[in-house]
Amino acid sequence: MRRPFIAGNWKMNLDHNEASSFIDELSLKFKNKNDIEIAVCPSFTSIRSVAVAAEKEKEKNNHFNIKIGAQNIYFEKSGAFTGEISADMLRALGVEYVIIGHSERRVIFKEDDELINKKIKSALANGLKPILCVGETLEIREKGKAVEFTLNQINSGLDLIDISEIKNITIAYEPIWAIGTGKTATPEDAQQMCSSIRMKIEKLYKKEIAENIIIQYGGSVKPSNISEIMEMPDIDGALVGGASIKSDDFLALINY
Ligand code: PEP
Repeated sequence: MRRPFIAGNWKMNLDHNEASSFIDELSLKFKNKNDIEIAVCPSFTSIRSVAVAAEKEKEKNNHFNIKIGAQNIYFEKSGAFTGEISADMLRALGVEYVIIGHSERRVIFKEDDELINKKIKSALANGLKPILCVGETLEIREKGKAVEFTLNQINSGLDLIDISEIKNITIAYEPIWAIGTGKTATPEDAQQMCSSIRMKIEKLYKKEIAENIIIQYGGSVKPSNISEIMEMPDIDGALVGGASIKSDDFLALINY
């Protein structure tokens, strides 16, 4: 049985005061109706405030269990890498997940598959659980190459990752043309790709691993469309950007 997993990618939104208020608001109305894994991924500067606020709320309500993710790491452990943040530093703050290979990092910050693979390895080696993002541009989809392209990203992202580590990896299928655009892939298109990803994982590892890996869909998921997405058999959750930064919307998402 795969446990559904919904994560909010706050991107460069919510300063530490706003982030802390988000957690307070969420906790006031919190219900984990579906008993799912839930995470928020704040900016680095808001992580400590979110961790403190979440801990405080958990003391009041034991069911308030929100995991924290980061939006990026650098693959080195420490050293002369001005402006970068290591997996160790994040773990010390209570971070459990890290988004790696988000299309905004691939496109705007020119991260390639080799760098992404190094980050995945570093996250795993240092106790963080990577959420590996993959997905095609509209141009690639229109050429009929979406599956080939996305599966290649899986291949490179997981290069030399041992079978024993896969249980700590989540895959997020995020077609670039659907991110922040209001255009969502149809649940059937998203299902088709997530199913291809699962088959690829079976080929790379084995059936049991493929059956257990969590595959999220991301791309303009919102309270009004999440339930039809979650009904798809190979979609185990969602990585949500825009609709995750308001506590009421996030609550509606997790209670889809
Ligand atoms: C994302 O940033 O991962 C994302 C899916 O964004 P949005 O939900 O805003 O499309």
